[in-house]
Amino acid sequence: MHTFCDVAVPVPLDAAFTYRVGETKPVVGGRVLVPFRAERMVGIVTRLHDNAPQSHDKDKKIQIKAVITALDTEPVLDAGLLKLGEWIAQYYIAPIGEVFRSMLPLTAEVKKQIIYRIAEAGHEALAASAGIGSSLRSRRSEAEQDLEYKALDYLAQRDFATEGSLRATVKIPKSLLLGMVRKRWIAREDTSSVRDARRTIQIAVLKDSGFGKGTASAVPKESERVPASAAEGRSLNPKQQALLTALQQNGGRLSVDQLRELPVPRTTLQTLIKRGLVEIIEEPAGFEVSSMKPRAVDDLKLTSKQKEALQKINTAASDQKFSVTLLHGVTGSGKTAIYLAAMKAVLAAGKAAIMLVPEIGLTPAAAANLHHQFKDDVAILHSGLSPDERAEQWHRIRRGEARIVVGTRSAIFAPVKSEDLALIVVDEEHDTSYKQEETPRYHGRDVAVMRGKLSNAAVVLGSATPSLESYHNARRGKYQLIELRERVEQRPLPKVEVLDMRSEFQQKNKEEEVLFSGGLTQAIRDRLARGEQAMVLLNRRGYAPVVLCRSCGETVQCENCAIALTHHKRDHKLECHYCGFKRAVPKLCPKCDSEHIYFIGAGSEKLEDRLHGLFPAARIGRMDRDTVRGKGDFERMLSSFDNGELDLLVGTQMIAKGHDIHGVTLVGVVGADFALGFPDFRAAERTFQLLTQVAGRAGRGDSPGEVILQTYSPEHYAIQYAAKHDYAAFFEKELQFRRWMHYPPFTAIANVLIRSDKLDFALRWSGEIGKWFDKNKSNGLRVMGPAIAPLSRLKGDHRYHFVLKSGSRPALNECLRKLVNFAADQKIPRTNLVIDVDAISLM
Ligand SMILES: [Zn+2]
Ligand SMILES: [Zn+2]
Repeated sequence: MHTFCDVAVPVPLDAAFTYRVGETKPVVGGRVLVPFRAERMVGIVTRLHDNAPQSHDKDKKIQIKAVITALDTEPVLDAGLLKLGEWIAQYYIAPIGEVFRSMLPLTAEVKKQIIYRIAEAGHEALAASAGIGSSLRSRRSEAEQDLEYKALDYLAQRDFATEGSLRATVKIPKSLLLGMVRKRWIAREDTSSVRDARRTIQIAVLKDSGFGKGTASAVPKESERVPASAAEGRSLNPKQQALLTALQQNGGRLSVDQLRELPVPRTTLQTLIKRGLVEIIEEPAGFEVSSMKPRAVDDLKLTSKQKEALQKINTAASDQKFSVTLLHGVTGSGKTAIYLAAMKAVLAAGKAAIMLVPEIGLTPAAAANLHHQFKDDVAILHSGLSPDERAEQWHRIRRGEARIVVGTRSAIFAPVKSEDLALIVVDEEHDTSYKQEETPRYHGRDVAVMRGKLSNAAVVLGSATPSLESYHNARRGKYQLIELRERVEQRPLPKVEVLDMRSEFQQKNKEEEVLFSGGLTQAIRDRLARGEQAMVLLNRRGYAPVVLCRSCGETVQCENCAIALTHHKRDHKLECHYCGFKRAVPKLCPKCDSEHIYFIGAGSEKLEDRLHGLFPAARIGRMDRDTVRGKGDFERMLSSFDNGELDLLVGTQMIAKGHDIHGVTLVGVVGADFALGFPDFRAAERTFQLLTQVAGRAGRGDSPGEVILQTYSPEHYAIQYAAKHDYAAFFEKELQFRRWMHYPPFTAIANVLIRSDKLDFALRWSGEIGKWFDKNKSNGLRVMGPAIAPLSRLKGDHRYHFVLKSGSRPALNECLRKLVNFAADQKIPRTNLVIDVDAISLM
């Protein structure tokens, strides 16, 4: 038994904290509930020991707080995952406690609760307030003071109140409550505790009459009326009767949720319960993998090329050695079938596999396929699940019940035993959604490679458009390279036409904007006439991206960000796509009161509108983040397109992602060069990837596909090589540019961002850090900045940044580590200093 334990607490500090073990029995890698400042937090035990921490001040004895509860008797992070977490903290310069928190989807197991009590000073203040006339108070804070006294009054009448009830009753903002804590009027206490997070559902069961248990023979015939309760002898009203009939027809039991769908008031069920006719029982909820039917499951008939690739992957996976394979296969070459077959082989060998997919929207389709193949051996982890559902999946994996794991980015932390893990697949490895855009800012693909290394597993990265980094690694022999150059069933790659919109514009010579070229309009018309389907992509949502006053030249900007608001016509709103701020569409210019407000440019909403105008009879669906909001939206829309209920599907990059719809013979791209204007060294790569991916949606069935790219920069190499389906040529050209400009894969980069809602602070800190870099940057480290970040204001913060490039990753890492220490010495809060290693956005 040890006296102390070190705990990594989820706070932005780079250290673990020591606690007394006391009566609890913590385990290394297990969770404990501990007091931290005025809060209770769940941390991960990193070490058990007997060394009392020493105070710097000899005369002072350190008060070491005790662990409140140990949540686990066995580690939730085994040795391998603890190591992986430490690597992430080290590599991405991220606080270890925050890393561990993001690795565990178990928040549902702790019930967060804050309570407040009135203190002596509070009673005194309340008593004194009775005598104070409102005239004595300053007018500005009068309302606030009233709220404070109301809160004191409320607390004086009870032992304590939860934060929720206090704020609901008194309507007092949290900042005021915290102010009252500082004045010592009230005490704040965190009483969070462990809760049982097992999901249950409530089931209504028919009582007595001999059919309560729901056996088939006991179920009365439909026509048979439920006898009035013998106990009460009263007859039933039609609603009660309807509810009981529904129960009978379902074997005497139905979930309460299902009963709520009946057209009867909720009180009906309550009445029946009171009368003893129905009782409610709780049962563990089952888990439904996906309601979606698997599409295109041909029981894995593989072509000889696919078999060859599979063979290599199987060999790697059965080796029990770390290896990385890059599977570069053109769109439609059947990569998914190879993944499935490889995972089957892993399962047959008694091992486990993890497969990462980029987007939540893709998961249902992928999961349905996997479920078809693996039944209950598959578990899903993605952000669309409720916390309880996630915890449940996590436990299934940990118990070894599910040995195939599919999910988005964080599924790489699935608690598969290190010794079982044989294969990790990262599908669409180039996808930017693998990079987490909050602390810890890890890249799921790179963490996957590291996890493979720590568990001696085979890692397969797959893509039609691999990232420069991965392809570079494959070219220089660091990764095994498998290339699939042909589509399955010898289907041809679609023919791509690049349409120069400059000449289109000159020909039309019109005032109005040209959204569709004559060529694209005609091609869509042809498809509609033949009963084929088409997709049109414009990678920008909303109706118009800029709202401009023609009198004063101002664009209408977000209140919190230096970003133009986008017009959303259907919602009658202007919206900020960065922070979600919304405002009504102004009738007059907010700056100069002029009426000359113009909506400029086009987004996917306008695209849909215009297509309705051009083809009134066509059935058109739109897929973007405005139309795909709920859980099932993506599936629903894709299914109806797949079933032929829609002729045209328009949308943002969402329509480009990995689906396989056989009726699509035409893909049009409006604004193919749109992303090239971004201040980002990866702009060409992104453009090439998006165009290749969306073009890949065409001609996946029996009829060949055609793609039309509309652009104002037809000569750009990203567009030219995408049109020729020539990844290798694009790679060479782009690699040369990266070499010249000292960008990855030739250097390691980091974005160091200083942000604050106070401009003064942001400026001062940037200046201090700039001076520090001047003195401390080692040889070979390039520091650009301080500069105003391209997004100079975001969510109320002013932003300045430095871009660091280094030929040596250890040198970059060391410099950043020292920077964190310097910032701590300067009292720059860790949350105001964002360090983004391997940043994929320098905005
Ligand atoms: Zn104006
Ligand atoms: Zn905003």
